[in-house]
Amino acid sequence: MIVCKFGGTSVASAEQIKKVFNIVKANPERKVIAVSAPGKRSSEDIKVTDLLIDLADAVLNNGDVKQKIQTVVKRYEDIAVGLGLDTTISNVIAADLQERVAGDISNKELFIDSIKASGEDNNAKLIAAYFNLAGVPARYVSPKDGLVVNNLPERTFALPEAYENLSQLKNTKEVVIFPGFFGYTKSGILRTFDRGGSDITGSILASAVGADLYENFTDVDCVFSANPKVVNNPAEIKEITYREMRELSYAGFSVFHDEALMPVYKQGIPVNIKNTNNPTAPGTRIVPMRTEKGRSVTGISADSGFSILYVSKYLMNREVGFGRKLLQIIEEENISYEHTPSGLDDISVIMRSNQLTPEKEERIVNRVKDELHADDAHFRHGFSMIVIVGEGMRNNTGLAARATAAISSTGANIEMINQGSSEVSLVFGVNQQFEDQILKALYAEFFSTVTA
Ligand code: ASP
Repeated sequence: MIVCKFGGTSVASAEQIKKVFNIVKANPERKVIAVSAPGKRSSEDIKVTDLLIDLADAVLNNGDVKQKIQTVVKRYEDIAVGLGLDTTISNVIAADLQERVAGDISNKELFIDSIKASGEDNNAKLIAAYFNLAGVPARYVSPKDGLVVNNLPERTFALPEAYENLSQLKNTKEVVIFPGFFGYTKSGILRTFDRGGSDITGSILASAVGADLYENFTDVDCVFSANPKVVNNPAEIKEITYREMRELSYAGFSVFHDEALMPVYKQGIPVNIKNTNNPTAPGTRIVPMRTEKGRSVTGISADSGFSILYVSKYLMNREVGFGRKLLQIIEEENISYEHTPSGLDDISVIMRSNQLTPEKEERIVNRVKDELHADDAHFRHGFSMIVIVGEGMRNNTGLAARATAAISSTGANIEMINQGSSEVSLVFGVNQQFEDQILKALYAEFFSTVTA
């Protein structure tokens, strides 16, 4: 059995949904299908999810709710007309939105989740109706029927029983059309995953039914070895391991949600990233182990928006528990960190800047100085992390030398180097103004020659 997920652009219009239908019809193994909300039809278009966030905002702040509902309904109406469906379906969607809008606003986050989720929920109903009309028996299945998620305040994830419940879908006779992006808590409260979370739903379904393959349909032919917005015409990745994909999950690799790897990873189910607009292209396969031997570097990614907390204390290396106490302070501020490179008497904690506020920074610095008696503690901002990834890097000497030479050719100073102990990644912290230049220089170094 194959589980498929079709992303926003794949289900953005009647024309796109017809492509989805043809893809599913072409292979009877494609039995369980997760769908996104209608995405952008052109680069200027607005995703339905964003229209819905805007609608929720209007409800909470006395905006023009009626007009915003109409805009959303119109998107579905156009799709229904284009698919030759009975347009009364748009009345059903309008009524559904009215009901959600009139819902409980005492918890804003949950209220917004309930509005947001209607994007995929109504699209799944509409797509199931079209499949039946066009001659492929299909049924809409609600996440209420099994996709159980945790409660607030943690971020949303599927509970173990979700997999057990959803495993029933493997016996389905009809094609199952399942809305992506959300689940329900045990007490029936709707919660969405992070943005792009339909990938996660697809992965949960693939794992639950023990699929042979999880096909993730999007609007690009493959995953590229570097961000195509920065590097001209980067090489396509045909095969990549879960671990490599995970290490590359910074900017330019957002084609697949990084949290979506977990459910399939646990079961070793391969993922195939494919293009709805070019379904015969082989796409990129994400696999437990790579058979294709090629370059030692598989990809290079980069992301900006990092801050560094620098802490130094004489004889830090002799002090039992220093690292734990420092990280506990970070934890108590509800901050997750990415790297902790250290020296004998100093340690840096690297984190995403968007988790910080001036007050939080001040509190952290004061606590580190007062409670840990650090000689120095301060924050620095405006860093990028550049990551070079490849399973083949493990047995390759001189790779770091080549990378540092390429970086120094841009005039950038390397603030931090971190080689993961698995040796499949090498991370460089640099001033973010050099990010694009460095990415280009590294790409030229590792990809412009066949020996790389
Ligand atoms: N529609 C949601 C979003 O735009 C979820 C998804 O498409 O994966 O983030």
